[in-house]
Amino acid sequence: MDFNYLAELLFPQITTLPSDIEEQYPARQLPEGAKVTRFAPSPTGFVHFGGLFPSTVAERLAHQSGGVFYLRIEDTDAKREVPGAAEGLIKTLARYGIEFDEGAILGDDGKICDKGIYGPYKQSLRGNIYQTFAKQLIREGKAYPCFTTEEELDALAAVNKKEEIKNTDWQAEAEKKRAEMLARRNFTIEEVEEHIKAGHPFVVRILADGDAEKKLKFTDLVKGAIEIPENDEDFVLLKSDGIPTYHFAHAIDDHLMGTTHVIRGEEWLPSLPKHIQLFRYLGFKLPKYMHIAQIMKLDEFGNKKKLSKRDMGANMDDYTRMGYTPEAVCEYIMTLLNSNYEEWHMQNPDKSYKDFPFNIKKMSVSGCLFDFNKLDDVSKNVISKMSAEDVAQKVTDWALEFDPEFGAELAADREFAEKIFAIGRGGKKPRKDLATLADAKPYMGFFYDKFFTIQDQYPESFDKSDIIATLESFKTSYDYADDMNSWFDKVKAIADSLGYASDMKAYKADPSAFKGNVADISMFIRVAITGKMNAPDLYTVMQILGKDKSFARIDAMINSLK
Ligand code: GLU
Repeated sequence: MDFNYLAELLFPQITTLPSDIEEQYPARQLPEGAKVTRFAPSPTGFVHFGGLFPSTVAERLAHQSGGVFYLRIEDTDAKREVPGAAEGLIKTLARYGIEFDEGAILGDDGKICDKGIYGPYKQSLRGNIYQTFAKQLIREGKAYPCFTTEEELDALAAVNKKEEIKNTDWQAEAEKKRAEMLARRNFTIEEVEEHIKAGHPFVVRILADGDAEKKLKFTDLVKGAIEIPENDEDFVLLKSDGIPTYHFAHAIDDHLMGTTHVIRGEEWLPSLPKHIQLFRYLGFKLPKYMHIAQIMKLDEFGNKKKLSKRDMGANMDDYTRMGYTPEAVCEYIMTLLNSNYEEWHMQNPDKSYKDFPFNIKKMSVSGCLFDFNKLDDVSKNVISKMSAEDVAQKVTDWALEFDPEFGAELAADREFAEKIFAIGRGGKKPRKDLATLADAKPYMGFFYDKFFTIQDQYPESFDKSDIIATLESFKTSYDYADDMNSWFDKVKAIADSLGYASDMKAYKADPSAFKGNVADISMFIRVAITGKMNAPDLYTVMQILGKDKSFARIDAMINSLK
């Protein structure tokens, strides 16, 4: 068959040649060893935790090596596209420190525009490029048209599926499919001419030359040396609307855009034989691949399962709503990604995770386990190291969006809020009360009359009259100007006067000799003022709250007990 003629018949409108296009994509001038990576999401919804994972790896590897990290929008499936998803995705990634050097970025007008000379970075704008290469493969007899429409293919697939369920003879089924595929290869140029004249749509399929019985040796940078079958399937390259499939677009774009490392989810591993074949047919150098294991979680029976899109923690917007700071999430991702990250972090507590020498060899091959408890631990640490100003700002911003009543109180007096957040902060062993910004209200909301309630009741075991007596003498002896030691001496004196031990050693030696100890006396006061058994340091709380407010709360408690 005259393939040149066939190519002209199918793509008369395409006048560019692959060489014209290659000229527009010069080789990148980068230092030795610099990696070029990309994140290539389909704009079909929110950013999934499982998507932030590979993109963090890609970002780290590029920037750690002095390379380039770019964003390509893979919008070839218009049916699944969600309006605004691409814009949302870019904003979410930016929140998690994923900044692109190049690619589809958000312009000042909030719309997506290109930065860099390897674009367009949106696949829907690259139709001409894909068709040029498809035409070339047809010229070379490596691809061919198939005049079955997409609808017909869908219908066929549906029928096959039904039959598949009935038909358990898989061998026969596979042979039938193979025969169907080979039959598609047999057509005459006259048939093509007729179809074209009649305006029938066509897809372009690759002419596979592999043998699935034969194995290819391949080295994946995460999985190591693996063996995969050769591709023997005439898969579709261009759909009938001229839009490429993922496989075709991947090969063309990653080649032209100079990607050195393709970092993607392991769900793409089964497609790798197709990609290897395509790169060979197109005469492109195969990039290096890293297939990243899926994130797992434990189900209610303790079994590992894939973290699905519907699971809590899958949608990155969940984290914002729950009040996890991006800093904590990024830090957590690093602990999941590299087994030696935590050790490094302990040795370098003040460094950013971006200073960590990320190592591909330290990545989990089998899949990381997502765990909220671990995230909370990491997050408590991260927040404990922030300055009071920083935490006040972050909590206020969060609350203004998700708890406006609380947000308004915080915003009304920033200095007051900063004083509160300064409690227990800054020393060698800072308090770790907050895992999320949302934890702030239960932790310190009692400072605000609006949110103050008595949450904890006094244990039944204590005499009401002792509590009342404590609160009354405390009021009598309290002086706002006292320092912490004098303040505590006064509390101890109350303990002694009521038969509670002021000396813990004496109490431990013979508890039966006392009604309780000084900790109980502090607790009587603490519950009255904070409403809680556990609260930050009471002396400091009263310094911030002021005498009047504190006394008003003590009075209210005395009244309620009487
Ligand atoms: N668009 C593909 C996806 O969202 C990209 C996979 C890749 O990184 O190559 O899964």
